[in-house]
Amino acid sequence: MKYTDLNRLGGIGANSSLVEIGQFKYLVDAGLHPKEVGNEALPALEFAKDLDFIILTHCHLDHLGSLPIVARRFPGVPIYTSQPNKTLAPRMLRNSVNVMKRQRKELGIAEYPLFTYSDIDRLRNQLRPLRFERPETIHKNGDEIEITLYPSGHVAGAASILVDHADASTFFTGDILFDDLTTLSGASIPNMEVDIVVTETTRGRTDRPASQQRAAEWERLLNSVYKTVENGGTCVLPVFALGRMQELLAVLHKERKQGRLPRVPIFCGGLGMDIVDYFDQISRETGLIRFRKKIIKELNVQPARLPQRPGKDKVAPGIYVLSSGMMVEHTPSYQVAASILGSEKNSIYFLGYCDPDTPGGKLKACEKGDEFLFEPYDYMAEIKAEILSFDLSGHADRDEIVNLVERMNPYHVILTHGDADARTWFTETLAKFESFKIVNPEPQQTFLI
Ligand SMILES: [Zn+2]
Ligand SMILES: [Zn+2]
Repeated sequence: MKYTDLNRLGGIGANSSLVEIGQFKYLVDAGLHPKEVGNEALPALEFAKDLDFIILTHCHLDHLGSLPIVARRFPGVPIYTSQPNKTLAPRMLRNSVNVMKRQRKELGIAEYPLFTYSDIDRLRNQLRPLRFERPETIHKNGDEIEITLYPSGHVAGAASILVDHADASTFFTGDILFDDLTTLSGASIPNMEVDIVVTETTRGRTDRPASQQRAAEWERLLNSVYKTVENGGTCVLPVFALGRMQELLAVLHKERKQGRLPRVPIFCGGLGMDIVDYFDQISRETGLIRFRKKIIKELNVQPARLPQRPGKDKVAPGIYVLSSGMMVEHTPSYQVAASILGSEKNSIYFLGYCDPDTPGGKLKACEKGDEFLFEPYDYMAEIKAEILSFDLSGHADRDEIVNLVERMNPYHVILTHGDADARTWFTETLAKFESFKIVNPEPQQTFLI
């Protein structure tokens, strides 16, 4: 088998793996780097030639974001994915087009949008939904290969992938979470041995087991939210539109039923509110997630009225569940944050990782009393609101991944989707299993396995 990591900058970025085995050439995921702009954000797609099929693990943009470009280059080539992803992918991508069109104007990025609504339409016709745990066999020139999807937790529709070929069986973890969430069950991977495991390494540098702390972190978060609003303040919760916003609303709904949630207004905004409709549909059609739209009604969620002049206009007090999770410029979470940061009654609570270069990451690194610049509005705020971070990661803890690899007993382990220090931890830890050969692939270098 030949394996090439197309994520040019390494780390967690434009995830994409190219595999050649027997008669087949296939791609797993085609993401977009969240921090880079323009063509710099793309994986090294020039390596992808004569593809026979593509597999999409899930709809976060670091896995999905450049798929329309691949689909345009390989019209008619099937893209295998889960049923929820077939519903979610076009919606996520249309939002990307809108963001890129805006950035073209605002930042003058000439190559934006990198793809159009027509490309998304074409891609939609190439999507071939597979049921979990139902193998699909593909034949070519007397050779055959079998693809099986397994639920990988993490987010609605997310899949781990088993690709079985006579030369080698390969298991791709994709982004994986074993813990159950309120809206989604954890990964369900059968006991099996394989030849090659391609694993995510996101939490490799994080010592703390996420699973043990999850319930306590939720408790700490909810208590902090209640404290803010009971004191008459406003609480902003920047969340990812896909998965995290719906999970948070489901948790708040449970809390309301148990009489714990104070009777204050809840406001939502951004792409996440659209995704609510899609989650309701997926929940009804597939039963693969637990989410109903009536939650919105029962919580009396109102669309957030965003300040016209962020930083100057006041916003109505309450709980704001807003995308983006990293408080990227011009998003609802960024706009409302500008209006509430200057009062000690208010708070901003981050539920997960923020890249240090994003406004969310920069704000997290600040202290109370520091000044924080909202550049697009040329507005400098003194940080008086309470800023806290909660570790509610959507990724498996590193020891869980090591256990999974050990159970699968492969000849080769290929590391992906993690920063350099995270991969170092996995390389060192997995080295104790002398039967495994560990590959930490240099981007754009082809490994023969
Ligand atoms: Zn993901
Ligand atoms: Zn990812």
